[in-house]
Amino acid sequence: MRIDVVTLFPGYFEAPLGTSIIGRASERGLLEFGVHDLRDHGLGRHRSVDDQPYGGGAGMVMRPEPLFAAVEPLKAAGATVVLLDPAGERLTDALARELATLRHLALVCGRYEGIDDRVRALVDREVSIGDYVLTGGELPALVLIDAMSRFVPGVIDDASQAGDSFAGGLLEHPQYTRPESFRGMDVPAILFSGHHAEVDRWRRRESLRRTLERRPDLLAGAPLTDADRVVLDELRGGGED
Ligand code: SAM
Repeated sequence: MRIDVVTLFPGYFEAPLGTSIIGRASERGLLEFGVHDLRDHGLGRHRSVDDQPYGGGAGMVMRPEPLFAAVEPLKAAGATVVLLDPAGERLTDALARELATLRHLALVCGRYEGIDDRVRALVDREVSIGDYVLTGGELPALVLIDAMSRFVPGVIDDASQAGDSFAGGLLEHPQYTRPESFRGMDVPAILFSGHHAEVDRWRRRESLRRTLERRPDLLAGAPLTDADRVVLDELRGGGED
């Protein structure tokens, strides 16, 4: 998968794209990144990319010409153009999976008060990472890259993402590692039993419990078995746990 990023701050991307899982995926050629400095397409001696809003008001707006100049060649090369924008569709596990199937993405990072609205004519998708406003699109672009990369084949072990929160519609069960006992808190004994089926049953139950307690809204869309529904009835009724 190739991901191009158009930004006024290319330096933002150096460490995150070169580190850990994404850095290794890039070294292995599973992900290929191109970070483009919008300033290269700035106008005039000062390479200006913004101007005052028509109609007045606070702040500056990104002009369309530099953005078109930076993005059009990427679009011509086949990229799906994604604008990071608070008005976009909300980033979810499902959207990250969908975008990860594309071969070439171009991510456009806004700054200031945002972009001249005519830039939306160039854009295929708009994505928001949540209902809050950040100072720029660089962190949202990195969040999107990280969330998508996990679903690009080979980037992480399939088994490790299959059990993650949201993958099966639920939150993940609690996890433990050494030591067995820490400051009076013990690891549940079932996890030492060696009975894989029992461990799986416990994990499923705890996953259902955690989802019911913290994100009951997810249960409506989760693929639940009859056994899951029995467990949920017990948990709701305060039955045996
Ligand atoms: N005036 C804009 C508004 O109210 O919608 C906000 C502009 S924001 C200060 C500057 C840039 O940060 C945006 O153009 C966008 O690229 C990015 N941004 C800020 N919050 C975001 C979010 N929640 N999701 C995605 N991008 C965001």
